[in-house]
Amino acid sequence: MTLEVVVTRVSSKRSAIVFAKELKIIHTTYTCPQCERLTKVRNSRSEDGYEFYCKCCRKLYNARVGSFLEVFKLPLRKLLMMLYLYATDILTWKVAERECQIGMELYTKFRARLRDVKGFHMLAHSTQIGGFGHQVQIDETCYGSAKYFTGSMLEMPEVWVTGGVEVASNKCFMKVVENKLAPTINALIINNVLRGTCIVTDMAKCYDQVTKLGMQYTHYSVNHKGKRFKDPRSGACTNRIEGVWMLTKTRTKKERGTKRGTLDAVLEEYLWTHHNKKKEAFSALLDTLHFRYPPQ
Ligand SMILES: [Zn+2]
Repeated sequence: MTLEVVVTRVSSKRSAIVFAKELKIIHTTYTCPQCERLTKVRNSRSEDGYEFYCKCCRKLYNARVGSFLEVFKLPLRKLLMMLYLYATDILTWKVAERECQIGMELYTKFRARLRDVKGFHMLAHSTQIGGFGHQVQIDETCYGSAKYFTGSMLEMPEVWVTGGVEVASNKCFMKVVENKLAPTINALIINNVLRGTCIVTDMAKCYDQVTKLGMQYTHYSVNHKGKRFKDPRSGACTNRIEGVWMLTKTRTKKERGTKRGTLDAVLEEYLWTHHNKKKEAFSALLDTLHFRYPPQ
């Protein structure tokens, strides 16, 4: 779908409602949660032009009930526009302000809710990576250090993240870790990396016990200190995972640094994007919304 199509489809209040129904962002039918009977659709003077009415309970439900949009009071055409701009990575705060006349607070809420939806999706679709015959590069990185952020971004305390990438498929995992000690890292590896995987890391001490975890892992370590990023004997390197760090850091930088509490969510969002990169951006977002808010 192109921006042009979206602009046309949301040009009037009426057409925006038809469009939202077509995209299954709002429900076309609604079952009353109190009596479990199907409600009737009733035209109204409300913002969206109709409501659901339960004859039995004499209760009115807003057209957005049970949908992602339920908590937002903005006109539907603006919300649809924002969803499209968000999906295609155009939506920044400045764009939201200029194109949709949205304030910072609402913009933050909108993004945070979408991030939750993506996190929910990733949680349900998380898989372990690696396995016999597969190589997984594992590395740790620090967010919020002076090395990567300058100015206001220094406000964020140091947070360590450990992650891994399966070389053949590019599937990855990443998690915020409390510390870089072997027990923490070992538990993370066991939870995320399948038995028999060939694991490549740097020389950090926390990886010393990788082959002793009872998971039949093999282990190559690459010495970064000598500026030799490739092990001359095995050809093993950690370039792939370092590429992932670079991309996630660009993302957190774009969002003016990320508070510790939301870093996990940002990483999940990155993983979601990674997971969906072959899909058309808007339909990938719609699929994820439908997964969290099944259409009726
Ligand atoms: Zn009812």
